[in-house]
Amino acid sequence: MPIPLLDLGPMHDEIRAELDGCWREVTGRELYVGGPEVGRFEAAWAAYCRRRYGVGTANGTDALELVLRGLGIGPGDEVVVPANTFVATCEAVVAAGAVPVFADVDPVSLLLTGESLRSVITARTAAVIVVHLFGHVVDMDDVGRVAERAGLALVEDAAQAHGARWAGRAVGSFGVASAFSFYPGKNLGALGDAGAVVTDDAALAARIRSIANHGRTAASHTEHAVVGRNSRLDSLQAAVLSAKLARLDQWNEARRRVAAWYRCHLPAGVRLVEPLEGSTPVHHLAVVRVPFRDQVSAALGEAGIGTGIHYPTPCHRQPAFAHHARGSLPAAESAAEEILSLPMFPHLTEAGVSRVARCLEAVAAAPSEGGRR
Ligand SMILES: *Cc1c(COP(=O)(O)O)cnc(C)c1O
Repeated sequence: MPIPLLDLGPMHDEIRAELDGCWREVTGRELYVGGPEVGRFEAAWAAYCRRRYGVGTANGTDALELVLRGLGIGPGDEVVVPANTFVATCEAVVAAGAVPVFADVDPVSLLLTGESLRSVITARTAAVIVVHLFGHVVDMDDVGRVAERAGLALVEDAAQAHGARWAGRAVGSFGVASAFSFYPGKNLGALGDAGAVVTDDAALAARIRSIANHGRTAASHTEHAVVGRNSRLDSLQAAVLSAKLARLDQWNEARRRVAAWYRCHLPAGVRLVEPLEGSTPVHHLAVVRVPFRDQVSAALGEAGIGTGIHYPTPCHRQPAFAHHARGSLPAAESAAEEILSLPMFPHLTEAGVSRVARCLEAVAAAPSEGGRR
């Protein structure tokens, strides 16, 4: 039996009846964009993140861009992003008209630190986007302190960390506003693209809602106060997200069990990239570092075990963004050559984890396959 990197099927099987109900409810009316499902999910998601306002968007990349635009960040501004994130984080900065400035990360946690943020701040820095990569949480005391002292807007990219906490406090509740993606493969995923912004700032939420809806205001459907765009949450996706939200904590708990099984079964010399002490992670990904990563991943693939690389090229080395690079970022660059994402999803069994671990052990013991230095 193959073990995929991610298997959404068992989650959907668990809530099949609710999913069917969503479909029937939404197709029974003529409100496919907006409508009661959207308002209901926005409120539920904001409450889950301990924030006052939630605004649904078409995807997580737009959510990030809309936060920056809502804050008035654009041409002339620099926004700090970690170098090792999904490319969407820096795409959003450029889409808002600002300049992405890449910061290196801690060589062990692979997360942004206060020190690396401080080292790239200039007179033009307007904001920092912290990324809770892999479902691990950035040290929000450390980074928060540096951002506050420098007067930067703190924005969270929580696309991989639904339900995670730092010192008991919900991810998404630290920044002036936070962006989430509900891409199907995220910890909370729709059946297509979807995203959201959460914030406590009523005026900011209203601006974002207006920009995301063609510049309309709450007062008028036909007056366009600002040049907006179209980035709204569909009714069907909102209904699905509400149905799945009821299971999110349980599924995150199952991911933490899977991570514990990896710790227990992985062979000596292969260790997970671990979350920081003081955090409650949600293990979006299970990442290890191995030399000869590509051979290891090929061998696992031959054994029917799916793997991924998140991400093989740091953003400052991507052709589209390399002209923004201001030098080398050694921790992000060396990690990119060794990281390997192993299967991780709530319904992965201990037997499955043990098979992945045994396969890794076999690869490491076979120098002819290049698994060992
Ligand atoms: C998925 C992801 C995004 C973008 O979300 P989309 O919904 O795919 O646009 C942004 N940042 C990170 C870290 C992500 O993992």
